[in-house]
Amino acid sequence: MILPYSGHCTCGSVRYHGTAQPSFSWICHCRDCQRTSGGASCPVLYVPQHSLQIEGEPRYHTLLAESGNKVSRGFCANCGSPLFILADLVPDLQGVWASSLDQPDDFEPVVQVWCGSARRWGTLHPQLPRIARAPDAEDFEKILALAAGS
Ligand SMILES: [Zn+2]
Ligand SMILES: [Zn+2]
Repeated sequence: MILPYSGHCTCGSVRYHGTAQPSFSWICHCRDCQRTSGGASCPVLYVPQHSLQIEGEPRYHTLLAESGNKVSRGFCANCGSPLFILADLVPDLQGVWASSLDQPDDFEPVVQVWCGSARRWGTLHPQLPRIARAPDAEDFEKILALAAGS
């Protein structure tokens, strides 16, 4: 994706700027992403935490994900737009919801996960590899390799 990138919530109270390529990007069809977004899936890029500058104060809601890992979801306390994900699974990275990007078409997902809970009325990406649930360690290596090659 083109660097630096930027994005913001609907009301503009929370803005961010990033200076590093995502370590990986994916589309997640898990139930938590569905509930949080109100949509069928969640497009997220995961970037090194230190490369992301956040202005404003997102609020975080922490929950135990279906995978058993702790996940904190960041949103604008003023307008409610979902913006960020902090996941125990990838402690050095921060997830950014691609829909909040100023250039959302720069988002390049390499895989789709939790396809087992994809909704009948949602759309699975026709070309991207599919993982039924959370990626295991072996899946993760493949995902990182795919992302490095993209
Ligand atoms: Zn806002
Ligand atoms: Zn998810």
